[in-house]
Amino acid sequence: MSKLRFDVVQDAFKKKAAAVETPEGKMSDYFGELVFNRDKMRKYLDAKTFNALVNCIDNGAHLDAATADGVAAGMKTWALEHGVTHITHWFQPLTDGTAEKHDSFMEYDGKGGMIETFDGKALVQQEPDASSFPSGGIRATFEARGYTAWDPTSPVFIQDDTLCIPTVFISYTGEALDYKTPLKKALKAVNDAALPICRMFDPKVNKVMSYLGWEQEYFLVDEDLYAARPDLMLTGRTLMGHASSKNQQLDDHYFGAIPSRVAAFMRDIEIAGYKLGIPLKTRHNEVAPNQFELAPIYGETNLSNDQNQQMMNVMNSIARKHGFVVLFHEKPFDGINGSGKHNNWSLGTDTGTLLLAPGKDAMGNLQFVTFFVNVLAAVQKHNDLLKASIATATNAHRLGANEAPPAIVSAFLGRTMTAVLKKLLEVPSDTPIEIAGKKGKSLGLVEIPEIFVDNTDRNRTSPFAFTGNRFEFRAVGSSANCAGAMTTLNAAVAEQLIAFKKDVDKAMKAGKPMNIAFMDTLKPIIKSIIDVVCFDGNGYTDEWKKEANKRGLDVETNVPKMFKSFTTKKAIDLFTKLGVYSEKELEARNEVKWETYTKKVQIEGRVIGRMAINHIIPAALAYQTKLLKNIDLMKDVFGEQYSAMAGVSMGIVTRISELVTDLRQQVDSMVEARKKANVIEDEYEKALAYHEIAESLFPLRKTIDKLEEIVDNDMWPLPKYRELLFIN
Ligand code: ADP
Ligand code: MG
Repeated sequence: MSKLRFDVVQDAFKKKAAAVETPEGKMSDYFGELVFNRDKMRKYLDAKTFNALVNCIDNGAHLDAATADGVAAGMKTWALEHGVTHITHWFQPLTDGTAEKHDSFMEYDGKGGMIETFDGKALVQQEPDASSFPSGGIRATFEARGYTAWDPTSPVFIQDDTLCIPTVFISYTGEALDYKTPLKKALKAVNDAALPICRMFDPKVNKVMSYLGWEQEYFLVDEDLYAARPDLMLTGRTLMGHASSKNQQLDDHYFGAIPSRVAAFMRDIEIAGYKLGIPLKTRHNEVAPNQFELAPIYGETNLSNDQNQQMMNVMNSIARKHGFVVLFHEKPFDGINGSGKHNNWSLGTDTGTLLLAPGKDAMGNLQFVTFFVNVLAAVQKHNDLLKASIATATNAHRLGANEAPPAIVSAFLGRTMTAVLKKLLEVPSDTPIEIAGKKGKSLGLVEIPEIFVDNTDRNRTSPFAFTGNRFEFRAVGSSANCAGAMTTLNAAVAEQLIAFKKDVDKAMKAGKPMNIAFMDTLKPIIKSIIDVVCFDGNGYTDEWKKEANKRGLDVETNVPKMFKSFTTKKAIDLFTKLGVYSEKELEARNEVKWETYTKKVQIEGRVIGRMAINHIIPAALAYQTKLLKNIDLMKDVFGEQYSAMAGVSMGIVTRISELVTDLRQQVDSMVEARKKANVIEDEYEKALAYHEIAESLFPLRKTIDKLEEIVDNDMWPLPKYRELLFIN
């Protein structure tokens, strides 16, 4: 028999912090212990193999079969020393999370025994049965073959007893079936587009990197309470639950002392992360109770994104050891903040220049302004697409709610950069852009005050904010794979930089010096963006929605409709010209997105319906019966006077009847709506129908929440918000 809610809560309260795994030595001693990084390559590969592999990683050179065999042999030796028995190609299909299929090293040795084998072929390519991963119809199920192919730019790592090889995942006919493939293409596109511009400023530049620093927000709940909530278990969020009397209104959780059970968990995930070479830097409490954040030092985007996926896996598994479950859902609890994954993004050169930070001299500043303005132009042109790139059924609960990202993509510049851009429009094109002292003197020059460099003003309501040396794309969801947003952003910027360079070249051919050609090209762009995508005001207000609409920014709030942005002519041009997605891939991915959207809402609809019928209504009726018995007893004891004395009980009895009737009707009409939606063939139309159903779940839960308010606490079958959110 299942335990009573009260017992479950008591047990959860009594839990102590679990013991922390403490490795020997300093953190730097075990950092990267479980990744096949350059140190391991040096140690386990001969010089020729090492050089060939490094050339492949750094310069994209082809890796021949003999080298691959050499690399595999070295990896095997290293892996066996760590007790590894299996290998897997580790990839990122279009689902939540990563996928892996483990094969052991084991092989017959031909002499009646067994040996461990691992060769270049097994390292470089595998053919998993791919038919069960979402493909949007690219690969009919009878053509089950898909390939995983090694991505040598992200290091191989060990997870428990398994050697994990980061790979791309593509169909038999070459279409991407994952997040990594298009991301890598977009990263190449942005390098190709930015490099020629950077070389005009510094001919020594050979490569432009895109950088990502993610800030992962998450909730922790006690695993016993989690197990008592079917909605959390099956959908990742609470589909019902009355607000706790106290939640985040005192602002006492943000940056507060970390509870000991949570601190122990954080230490363990950090140690695991360090061993995987993930440079975790920041941990703190977030705004909502039981909400936390983890962030590493930023790194190259593809690598950093892999590390985010690895960390999510690590967090999921280590949480269990501490009696917790991690919630990555964007909105696990109604009425308090949800979770995002701010993507701090920038571009930088292999010579160490950050292209979105002010430079050392006037030309360095011109380069900075060039990239700064072109990024904004790209965001303006593709604001609809950027929003679509972060839109999901789960993130929809954050979008447009009063927190981080409004459902409109605009950019926050801050006072300094707004002033710089405005000044640039006034002065002659050959005016140098200077870094001034702490306050910035006014000499008619264009000046970036020194203090700005490490102290940008903040605007928490902007989905895309400039923060001194990078932009922070805040609209990304906490459960998302960052690649979706990063592919779109890098591609959009690449397209803009190509167009910009063309215009600069034209101006220089006409005889203009470089700085004037740049400024003359930048000025009309600045004019076109300054009053459109640039917005420093409060993004949460209704006025902004109206204003944004007037400015021509996309204000769509319906998630299935947002996905349409991926197949407009503008988007198809962008992605096909850069070779990031083919038209077929774009269409297929939208099919997957609509299908996923539909399924997520469908599951939520089923869960809330069944919980209403099997948990909530029985509990409400049981309490009603108890009240009726009370009324009956009153009558026995007090005779005629009973009705005045049993007024409270009778009121609740009536109220329960009303609410239970409403609830039953709401469930029935939701089930009817689902039946109708389920027979729609077209994935887009079906997702639209499910969007309506998603909207109807809110009033339904409100009825349940009203019942929670009046039903006997002892008889309520589910852990409540105050219990889920305040036990650690
Ligand atoms: P916040 O104050 O917004 O929480 P932090 O200073 O903690 O920001 O940094 C958030 C993330 O931004 C970290 O991962 C950090 O490494 C990253 N970051 C810092 N500079 C850059 C940059 N130039 N490009 C990309 N990410 C960066
Ligand atoms: Mg931040």
